Amino acid sequence: MEEPAPAPADEAAVLWSVAEEAITVEVVRDHIGWLASDEMRGRDTPSPELELAAEYLVDELAALGLEPAGDEGSFIQRWTFESAPLDRQESHAYVQINGDRRDWRYEHEYFALPGPPGPAEGTPVYAPDPASAMEGLPPQAQGAPLVVGLPDGLGPDFGMAIQAAMQAGASGVVLLMDEETDASATFQLAAALEGGAAAQMPLPIIGLAHEAGQELLESVGVEPEGGRDPPAPVQVLENVILSFQSVFGEESAEVPNVVARLPGADPELAREYVVLTAHYDHVGVGPPDDRGDSIYSGADDNASGTAAVLEVARAFSQLPEPPARSILFLWVSGEEKGLLGSAYFAENPTVPLENIVANLNLDMVSRNAPDTVHAVGEEYSTIGELVYQVARDHPELGLVVAPDPEPEEQAFLRSDHFSFVEKGIPALMLTTWLHDDYHLPSDTPDRTDPDKAARVARLAFLLAHRLATQVEPPEWTEAGERLLRDLEQMGPP
Ligand SMILES: [Zn+2]
Repeated sequence: MEEPAPAPADEAAVLWSVAEEAITVEVVRDHIGWLASDEMRGRDTPSPELELAAEYLVDELAALGLEPAGDEGSFIQRWTFESAPLDRQESHAYVQINGDRRDWRYEHEYFALPGPPGPAEGTPVYAPDPASAMEGLPPQAQGAPLVVGLPDGLGPDFGMAIQAAMQAGASGVVLLMDEETDASATFQLAAALEGGAAAQMPLPIIGLAHEAGQELLESVGVEPEGGRDPPAPVQVLENVILSFQSVFGEESAEVPNVVARLPGADPELAREYVVLTAHYDHVGVGPPDDRGDSIYSGADDNASGTAAVLEVARAFSQLPEPPARSILFLWVSGEEKGLLGSAYFAENPTVPLENIVANLNLDMVSRNAPDTVHAVGEEYSTIGELVYQVARDHPELGLVVAPDPEPEEQAFLRSDHFSFVEKGIPALMLTTWLHDDYHLPSDTPDRTDPDKAARVARLAFLLAHRLATQVEPPEWTEAGERLLRDLEQMGPP
């Protein structure tokens, strides 16, 4: 593989001065502040606030003089978000112990899996975990709800719990979720399930947030999970009646991606594109945290990346001459519902897919140590080698590029660049990684580091410029080729 030729010194100086002057901390801070303000109510897909955020981007892009690259000469590409929201009127979930009824609150205390509505009702049988349920359930399980502990969450054991319930002829399953599943996790699971994130289940199933599940066990005198070893045995919960019904509706909404183009300068290479992406949606409004805040602001996730890509666009628009290749700026919605907006774009690209040579995705770029940015996927393509080199060439950035800190989190499969990877396009994600406020109401602008986000934007600008200038497009490495083969074998998700 050839080393890319270093840019001449004066050109590098011009690029740096554009990066520094066009991309300012103040403007990045303003974008994050507005996009993650309470008025924007967490930019859910779909929501009026998502539309407002799209309008904000469009106004900025028009002012920068970039070309619209969405539908019909506009900056907007619409796609259909189909969801199956729970019908709150027709649905319920409660437990009655010695005649006292306690209703569980949807999205706060329980989530429902898509499947037959039920109702599932009766005196339940309890099993502390899926393995003990598989070993055998009493005859009373026939036609009754099965309450089963899931100490490892919705992992591989989950299927075993369903199988045990089916074999015993249970009428439904109540999953007692693990410690990780608090109110905000329950809210996000419910939203993901309404967005079509799971297959249809063969019988009615709900998941109880950890606290609600433990409270249920305590109130019927069963030692909660982890309370003793071995755990409480499989048993019929006498004097208890449990009932739940989950009716899902159907809804569809046309939601916006935002797309702009900077045409390249080279007559040949201008038909090729480097695509910069950031998702501008977040998860909306949900259960309040300890401070009573119910707006999941998504300042770092991903107002920061949205702002950074906008400022990269500003820098490109201020160059004395555009790079050889064209640049496409793409802000997608529906990321939090399962990378839906970017998947739609990859299926329905507004420029020829085969002309897209690289994708650079920015997701969560304003937190943690001020000097470190992670290049997720650096081992899979030659973009990795290039990002290290750009950072070395520009110590003024004040950034150290580091690899994926926790490969087991599978971040390379978890943001919008993956929609391009699935199409065989080399991609890299720049991120400053997860933090304690991830997907919580506390991911607010005051906890972001706009200075860092601005520096990541400058790095992205310099890197995108190189990708758009060097004659050879980036390539997959051997590890990348292997990943593509593995993905192919796995088949469509
Ligand atoms: Zn997120």
